[in-house]
Amino acid sequence: MPVVTVDKNTLRPSEKISGAPAPTFARGDKPVLITLDGLSKAYMEAGRSHPVLETISWDFYEGEFVALFGKSGSGKSTLLNLMSGIDKPSAGSVVIRQNGHMADITAMTDRERTLFRREHIGIVFQFFNLIPTLTVLENVTLPLELAGRGRGSRDHAAALLERVGLGDRLGTYPDKLSGGEQQRVAIARALSHDPLLILADEPTGNLDESTGDSVLSLLLELTRGAGKTLIMATHAPEIAHMADRVLHVEHGKLIKAKGKTQGN
Ligand code: ADP
Ligand code: MG
Repeated sequence: MPVVTVDKNTLRPSEKISGAPAPTFARGDKPVLITLDGLSKAYMEAGRSHPVLETISWDFYEGEFVALFGKSGSGKSTLLNLMSGIDKPSAGSVVIRQNGHMADITAMTDRERTLFRREHIGIVFQFFNLIPTLTVLENVTLPLELAGRGRGSRDHAAALLERVGLGDRLGTYPDKLSGGEQQRVAIARALSHDPLLILADEPTGNLDESTGDSVLSLLLELTRGAGKTLIMATHAPEIAHMADRVLHVEHGKLIKAKGKTQGN
C-alpha cells in the first residue's frame, strides 16, 4: 500500500517513503486525518472538459465535524466521492492517515482503494443505498464481512441496530421500513466496521424535517460522541451551528464560511 510522508512545514504530502510513520502535526490536539493536495476533478461532456473541482488543498482533522455547503451541482458529492475513493481525481491527491501512516488513496490501484474504503471509511448516502435483498441485520453485517471481520459480526451488528432503535427489526427487509428507519440502518452499516472517517452526503435530504432531526442527532451521537471524524454535505442551515467548521463548495473551490474562527 503506498505510503507518503508529510512535509511538516506545509502539511502537504511530499515524497513517497514506504513504511514512514505519520507525523502528528495538529491543530490544537487534533492530528491531521485527511490532506487534499491540489485536488481537481473534471468530467468530459460532449468532448469538452467540464471542471467541477479545481486544485483544492485542504486539511481535515481527526475528530472534527465539518459541514459542507454549496448549491446543487457545486461539487459536494464529487468531493466526498474523491475522499472516499469511490471516484478518482483528474489531478492531485487524497492522503488519509491510517494506523499511524499516511496513505495516498489516489496512488492506489482500484482494488487497493476499494479495500481501503471497506476498512477505514463509512459512508451515509442521501438515498440510503441499502441492499434490498438483504435483511436489516445482513445489511449491517456485510461491511464487517467484507473487511474480513466476520467473527462476532452478527452480535456486533445487532447491538448497533439496538442503539439506532431497530433492535426489533433485524429480520425485516429495507422496503418494509420508513425512510428514517432505512437511514438508521444505513448509519449502523456505515459504523459497523468502526471507521475513523464517516462521510455523509445529504443524509437528511430525503427525510421530513422531524425525522431528519432525529436521524441527525443519532448520527452526531454515534460519530462525534465516539471521537470520529464526520464530513457532511448538507443543505440544512441548522447544521452550521453544530459543526466545528463550515465550508462551502463554490466555483470549484473550498471556501471557509464567515463567522467560524477555525479553518485552513
Ligand atoms: P452536488 O453534490 O454539489 O449537487 P455533484 O458533485 O453531484 O454536485 O456534481 C457537480 C457537477 O459535476 C455537476 O455539474 C454535475 O452535473 C457534474 N457531474 C457529477 N457527476 C458526473 C458524472 N459522472 N459525469 C459527468 N458529470 C458529472
Ligand atoms: Mg450531491
